[in-house]
Amino acid sequence: MTRRHLLKRMFQMGVLVGFSQTLVSVAAKAAEKCKAAMLIDMSGKNKNPKNAEAVTIAKNLEYVEDVDKAIKTGTAKPKTNGENCSNCIQYNVTGADCGRCNMIPTEGMNVHANGWCKYWVKKPS
Ligand code: SF4
Repeated sequence: MTRRHLLKRMFQMGVLVGFSQTLVSVAAKAAEKCKAAMLIDMSGKNKNPKNAEAVTIAKNLEYVEDVDKAIKTGTAKPKTNGENCSNCIQYNVTGADCGRCNMIPTEGMNVHANGWCKYWVKKPS
C-alpha cells in the first residue's frame, strides 16, 4: 500500500467514524424519554410558558395525548386501527415516547408518540 493510499484510507475511516458517531448520538437521543416540560400537556399543568401556545394549536387539531384512552371515551375517532402520532407523516422523533409535530410549530414542544389528531396521515414506510 502506498502512502497516498494509506492517507486516503485514513481519511475515509475518519469520515466513517464521524458519521457513525452522529448516528449513535441520534439513536441515543431517540431512546431517551421526553422531559415532562417538553410534552404538550392538554390539562395545562405543564407550566412551561410555551405549553399554552402549543395547547391552543393542539386544540384546533383536536389532538389527544393518548389515542387508546380517547377512543374508549369517544373523544377520538380514528378512521383506521393503529393511527397515532408515531406513525403520522407530520411526526419527527425526538425521544422514545415523543416527537415534534410539523402542525404544532411551538419551539421545543413535543407530542406524545401515542397521541393523535384529526389531521393524521400515514407516514410512508
Ligand atoms: S397525528 Fe400527526 S398531525 Fe396530528 S398531532 Fe400527531 S403527529 Fe401531529
